[in-house]
Amino acid sequence: MNCNNDELFLEIDKWEGETNLVSAETYREYLRDGDTRSLASLEKLERAFERVISEIDSTTVTDTPAVWSLYNMGYLVKTRESFFSIDLIHRRAKELVDKLDFALITHNHGDHCDLNVYQALNIQGKTVISSFLDNYGATRDKIKNPVGGGFVMGEKTFKIKDVEISTSLVDHNKYLIDFTTAFEIRVGNWKLYHTGDCGVADKLKTRWGFPDVWTFFPGCGIKVDKALKMIQPKKLVFGHLWELNHNTGRLNAPLIKRAVKKAQGVGINPNVAFWGERVS
Ligand SMILES: [Zn+2]
Repeated sequence: MNCNNDELFLEIDKWEGETNLVSAETYREYLRDGDTRSLASLEKLERAFERVISEIDSTTVTDTPAVWSLYNMGYLVKTRESFFSIDLIHRRAKELVDKLDFALITHNHGDHCDLNVYQALNIQGKTVISSFLDNYGATRDKIKNPVGGGFVMGEKTFKIKDVEISTSLVDHNKYLIDFTTAFEIRVGNWKLYHTGDCGVADKLKTRWGFPDVWTFFPGCGIKVDKALKMIQPKKLVFGHLWELNHNTGRLNAPLIKRAVKKAQGVGINPNVAFWGERVS
């Protein structure tokens, strides 16, 4: 595979330089007051919201669904009949509640789950699929016989409007076993696989075949080449690369570049999800 990574790697370096200027404390202050403090990263994060909203409003989906990266592993998906989120995180995320038909949340960590958004969706009777939040009728207590709703621990298939969702559990890392819910999403013949924070490849699987798109986190120690050989996505999107809420444990440019090369080594050229971009 002939890949010229110069431009992409320069962009990755630039993003790393910009995000390094934002400490976790500064990020949390920004979440409280909305002041970007003229920091490039925070300005990009603010602009991401406006840009994605306006593109969602102006995009008519006739066939293949459209996918936007908002921040981290937060994606928004528009299909012909539905609009939904996966691991939605943004200072202004709550403004999307009225538009959303449902939401998917991979695991109970603050960089993937906004409890205010969940509560607002739950009050409106909208489905929130996760392994840790009660959702109208489906609770931890009633897991064996849920009446409805999105609480699920393990494998289950949901159908909401034109979207089918199949869940399974994967390991966040060696210690958080079965902690992350992976979502296979099917709309017509189009398939998206979203695996949140998954650091161990072994439990990855797709019951509906090779996905068209895999929104993937190349951190937590996952073996990128092994995972890709197992799942064989047509298109790969790297997300969750610059996590502002952490002072330590953020991915860095060398790690991201290594993951890009690993993917290319098995014939897949990944798309890097910069905030506010349409990725599919
Ligand atoms: Zn995470």
